[in-house]
Amino acid sequence: MSETSDEYWMRYALQLAHRAREQGEVPVGAVLVQHDQVIGEGWNRPIEQHDPTAHAEMMALRQGGKVLENYRLLDTTLYVTLEPCIMCAGAIVHSRIGRLVFGARDEKTGAAGSLVDILGHPGMNHQVRVEHGVLAEECAATLSDFFRMRRAQKRAQRQALRAAQANQP
Ligand SMILES: [Zn+2]
Repeated sequence: MSETSDEYWMRYALQLAHRAREQGEVPVGAVLVQHDQVIGEGWNRPIEQHDPTAHAEMMALRQGGKVLENYRLLDTTLYVTLEPCIMCAGAIVHSRIGRLVFGARDEKTGAAGSLVDILGHPGMNHQVRVEHGVLAEECAATLSDFFRMRRAQKRAQRQALRAAQANQP
């Protein structure tokens, strides 16, 4: 597996993250690859789907299972722009994917070593190869830009509300 192809697929995942952002969701994207072919893709969409489990990784794994007609996703690599949370790390173990490549670390919720290390737990019955740092800066910037934009939007809303209240007789 060359570094170029990891970058290629991480760019693909970043495109999916942008789709989440366009829908007002926290921009995280994931793509599941087997033998250089996409078998699942997902972007974060819990708000739109009214589903707390609708993380990018979960969507990609679900689609991959349908494509392979198997709940075991052997010989696959999951690329995700952000370090998976505890739920997604659990799903990654259940799915038996071979390799996980993620971009940015998530100090608050990351379950691949930042908050906890679910995937590296020595007692885990399935060991996933984990690599990170691929396009990490771009992946992190996608998130920080989104939160900055959202803070600015909220500030503008508050100002508009105050202006409207001030104009009331
Ligand atoms: Zn997750």
